[in-house]
Amino acid sequence: MTQLELARDGTISPQMQAVAKSEGVEAEFVRQGVASGTIVVSANREHTNLTPCGIGQGLRTKVNANIGTSSDFGDMDTELEKLRAAVDSGADTVMDLSTGGDISAIRRRIIASSAVPVGTVPIYQAGIKAVEEYGAIVSMTVDDLFAAIEEHVRDGVDFITVHCGLTQSAVARLRQQKRVADVVSRGGAFLIGWMLHNDGENPLYEYYDRLLELSREFDVTLSLGDGMRPGCLADATDRAQIEELLIAGELVERAWQAGVQVMVEGPGHLPLNQIEANVRLQKSICRGAPFYVLGPLVTDVAAGYDHITGAIGGAIAAAAGADFLCYVTPAEHLGLPNPEDVREGVIASRIAAHAADIAKGVKGAQQWDLDMSVARKRFDWEEQERLSLRPELSRRVHRQHATSGEACSMCGDFCAMRLVEDYLGISATRC
Ligand code: SF4
Repeated sequence: MTQLELARDGTISPQMQAVAKSEGVEAEFVRQGVASGTIVVSANREHTNLTPCGIGQGLRTKVNANIGTSSDFGDMDTELEKLRAAVDSGADTVMDLSTGGDISAIRRRIIASSAVPVGTVPIYQAGIKAVEEYGAIVSMTVDDLFAAIEEHVRDGVDFITVHCGLTQSAVARLRQQKRVADVVSRGGAFLIGWMLHNDGENPLYEYYDRLLELSREFDVTLSLGDGMRPGCLADATDRAQIEELLIAGELVERAWQAGVQVMVEGPGHLPLNQIEANVRLQKSICRGAPFYVLGPLVTDVAAGYDHITGAIGGAIAAAAGADFLCYVTPAEHLGLPNPEDVREGVIASRIAAHAADIAKGVKGAQQWDLDMSVARKRFDWEEQERLSLRPELSRRVHRQHATSGEACSMCGDFCAMRLVEDYLGISATRC
């Protein structure tokens, strides 16, 4: 049985227990969320060294880090280094998006080395193989696509991005829409090319039951991709995007009927004032299925700083109800991220996720900030470092200008907290 089927059956699985413990909530709360589809516990049966992670309503907002090679750069060692950078920085999941080198070998090493859930986009490998074997992505057969999916799920991938809602009707809307940036999803682009060339329906939609069967066998969580996600602010929340979302909503229900866990991916590039509406729309159309947003990026002009534009959008999206943030690195739009980019991207997304968790009232979120404030008031620098998102950075910056007193070098002898404490006569230890 899948986690969804177990939950519906009234069973609290060891994975649900583990999620409840790490979140500080009742196991029954997790079971109910999984049973209703508002929480997924992404855990492929073949991923044996996995520490289960829950994603969804009432839980801490999770952060995903994309790693993986491109056709130009990356090798096994670098990807393993990026995996370490992501997990050490606090990523809750990683996605291996490799499109270069020995893709299968890299994926297997990443899964074997990762205690956090691993996601992939199998159509990348299917498309690349089609180019190698037939000379073009559009020559890929339906069986080739499903063979790639099967290879990934048998290897232990916990969640797969599948652009099942990208139908001919969405492509028709795309044509009519006349977008600025057309399509920026790689998987979406592969599929649209295939559908137009072969004059056929998206095989992931047409043979969705076959996909559900495979997913159920390994308890793989489907992440319904947004192939029509806007790639610039001018294309945000248009008819092509919403058409795909409508189809995704129907596919969520079919996944649940088949006992398969499912979440839904979302934009992309969105003006700040459209983010909340997008989250509400997804939650309503997809009946509360977890929402996995890619950023969203709130401006198109910050290349080099897109981890910040993504974090701004991510904080607003998560505060409005998004459950899962895909990080963005400083290298976005410019090149393949290196391990330091991965670190920066994860921390930026974690700031967004935590800021949203405070607003959402997620258990423990406010307490963390309170603990930090008390440590600041006490000039307890060790505790401040310990509570920091990046302790070694906190330590290094604090110690680069040593002072003789308790206060830091920002205000030195004129430390505001120290001065007021002296005059008020209130001891910080009373906090
Ligand atoms: S010196 Fe200024 S910045 Fe440093 S602890 Fe005191 S008030 Fe805060």
